[in-house]
Amino acid sequence: MNYYFGMQNNYSTTRLYEVLLRGVLWNELKKINWMNQRASPKEAYRPTEVEHIANVITHGIWIAPSIWATLELLYRSHNGAQFFSGLVYGAALIFLFCVSTCFHCVFYRHKHGHLKDVLHRCDRAMIYIFIAGSYFPWLTLQSLPSNCWASSMKWLVWLLAALGIVYQQVFHEKYKMLETICYVIMGIFPFPFIVQHDFHGKTELKIGGMVYALGVIFFKMDGSIPCAHAIWHLFVVMAAAVHYYAILNYLYPEVPILDSSYLTDS
Ligand SMILES: [Zn+2]
Repeated sequence: MNYYFGMQNNYSTTRLYEVLLRGVLWNELKKINWMNQRASPKEAYRPTEVEHIANVITHGIWIAPSIWATLELLYRSHNGAQFFSGLVYGAALIFLFCVSTCFHCVFYRHKHGHLKDVLHRCDRAMIYIFIAGSYFPWLTLQSLPSNCWASSMKWLVWLLAALGIVYQQVFHEKYKMLETICYVIMGIFPFPFIVQHDFHGKTELKIGGMVYALGVIFFKMDGSIPCAHAIWHLFVVMAAAVHYYAILNYLYPEVPILDSSYLTDS
């Protein structure tokens, strides 16, 4: 009988500790400043401590995997075109995460420094470079129709990226919505020229594009949703992972591509 009451006592004490701990945790979580007020159209949003840390982590942890992912593409390359495309795409992937992480680290430590502004410009420029870099393997390794637009697209995406970067440097943070529209246009523009053609990986290319598009919603939600920018980062990671999966499996199969028709459905 005593043993039974002893057991019940122990159980009640554990429950009590559990409830207390939950209460303490909940109070601590409530004390954290999860989000600051939305910035006015001419100002930049000021992230909270938690948001800064989330921004650094959500891209920082992908630097090492992106290096490994690039090495895997280079290792699987069986010809010069594959190696070059892997190098360009991989470099864009690695630099995207590196520049973003550096910018968010510096922003966290030095809220108003010159280095922060320079890195912010680099971070935004990397978006254009990454879009062009993500299309590059598809435009280089696919057997695209020989009409003028489709075959010129692999160089045209870089021209668009260069124009986007020039615009972004000249009007940095001046017309924020227009800047976002430029990213979306740059991301969508080459798409119709590629999807006219039937090939393995088209579905993943579309899914990745849709994930990026959904992420843009969070890109514009600073001050409306806690850690909105970090959520945007996660959407970038998910979309990049879907595209990488398709590039690795369809453009860099483990067996050498002897015939380019292997890449197409037809
Ligand atoms: Zn960022």
